[in-house]
Amino acid sequence: MDYQNTQEFALALDEQDTLNKFSEEFLTPQHNGKDIIYLCGNSLGLQPKVAKQYLQDQLNAWEDNAVESWFVGKTSWLNYHEQLTGPLAAIVGAKNTEVSVMNSLTVNLHLLMVSFYKPNNNRFKIIMEAGAFPSDQYAVESQVKFHGLDPADAVIEVAPRPGEATLRTEDIIQAIAKNGDELALVLFSGINYYTGQFFDIAAITRAAHEAGAYAGFDLAHAAGNVPMQLHTWGVDFACWCSYKYMNSGPGGISGIFVHEKHFNDDKLDRFAGWWGYRHDKRFLMAPGFEPEAGAQGWNVSTSPILLMALHKAALDLFEKAGGLPVMRAKSEQLTGYLEFLIEKINAQKGSELFKIITPKDYAARGCQLSVICKTNAKAIFNFLAENGVIGDWREPDVIRMSPVPLYNSFKQVFDAATALSIAAGKFCF
Ligand SMILES: *Cc1c(COP(=O)(O)O)cnc(C)c1O
Repeated sequence: MDYQNTQEFALALDEQDTLNKFSEEFLTPQHNGKDIIYLCGNSLGLQPKVAKQYLQDQLNAWEDNAVESWFVGKTSWLNYHEQLTGPLAAIVGAKNTEVSVMNSLTVNLHLLMVSFYKPNNNRFKIIMEAGAFPSDQYAVESQVKFHGLDPADAVIEVAPRPGEATLRTEDIIQAIAKNGDELALVLFSGINYYTGQFFDIAAITRAAHEAGAYAGFDLAHAAGNVPMQLHTWGVDFACWCSYKYMNSGPGGISGIFVHEKHFNDDKLDRFAGWWGYRHDKRFLMAPGFEPEAGAQGWNVSTSPILLMALHKAALDLFEKAGGLPVMRAKSEQLTGYLEFLIEKINAQKGSELFKIITPKDYAARGCQLSVICKTNAKAIFNFLAENGVIGDWREPDVIRMSPVPLYNSFKQVFDAATALSIAAGKFCF
C-alpha cells in the first residue's frame, strides 16, 4: 500500500476499516480525558467490556447453585472448556482435540517438556533462539538440570549474525542439522518477544523432524496475533498465554497444543492429575491413571472457571470481529503504517534515530515493531507516556509498539508517530 504522512490519510483508512468501531468493545484507560493510545497489546491486551458480565455470570452460578454448577445449566462447569477449544483451535490451526486450556504458560511449558524432552545418552540437546523470553530460558535450564545434565552442554542457542538483529531461517536450520545426532528437542518461540520476529515454524519443524528431534513452540506472542497451521505443519507441541493478544486478563489461563500423532503414544511420560483422566470415568475415582484421549489428557487440575469465563469473553469478540484472518489483514496495514511513519521521521531528521529491528517482511512479523532509539531512549519513552502513548520499554534502548487490529486505529498510529517526531525534536541531537 502507498501510505501518506497526513492525518487525512489516516482518517480515510479508518473510514474504510471494517474493524474501526470495534475499539468500542474494549475499556481503554484515560489520559487527560481522552483514550490513551494503547500500543501494548503484546504485553497485556485491553479488557473487553463484556468481561465483567461473563465473570458475573459464573459468580451468579456459584451463588445460585454452588457445587451443582459443575453439572447443571447450559454451560455446566464440567463442560465449560468445550466452549474454548473450538475457537482456540481455529486461532492456532489445530483440530479441536489437539487443544486444551489449562494452568499458566510456564507451567504448561514444563508439563510439555516432561513429555517431549526425554534426553538419553545420544540425544540430549535442546536448540533454542538466543534471547528467548527469560521464563523459557529458566524453564529449559531447570529441565536440563532435572535430568542430571549441564545446560552448558545441553542447551544450544542460535544467535543472529554479527551486525544483525534477527535470525535467518537458514542459520536455524543449519544449527539443527549440525547437531542432528545429539538433538532431542527444538524449542522456539513463535514470535520473539524482543525483536518481534515471527519464525518460520513450518521450516523449523521440518528441520527438527529430519534431525530426529521433536519441535515445540512457545506462542505467547503469536497466538491471536498471526495465523498459524500447527496441525498441518506437524508441530509436536505448543503452548501460549491468553493475556497478551487474546485479551483474557492478567495471568489469564494458558492453552496447549499436542499433535494428534502423539495421542496413542504410551511411551510419552506425563505428570498426571485427575482432570486429565478419561472424562467418562473420572468420577469413579479409580486407581491407575488413564488419560482422556487428546490434549485434554494433559490436564492436571480442576478447571479455573473464572479465568475461563474471561477467556471466553475475549474469544467471543474474536469471533464477532470475523476471526483472525480479518484481524491479520488490518494488522499488516496498521503495523506497516507505523513503520512507514517512523521511517519518515528518520528521513526528515536525516538520520536513523529510530532503528526498527523487527523484520520488514510482513510474513516474518506480527503486530509488534521493536524500535531502538539511538539517543535518550528512556526520555523518549517517558515523553510518549506523558503524552498518552503507551508502548513498552525493554532495556537498554528498545521501545516495543504493537498496534492491535481490534482496538487501535490508523489515526492513533498517526498520533503516536507525531508524538515520536516531537520527542525526536526534543531529545535527539
Ligand atoms: C509472556 C511470556 C511468558 C510468560 O509466561 P507466564 O508463565 O505467563 O508468566 C513466557 N514465555 C514467553 C515467550 C512470553 O512471551
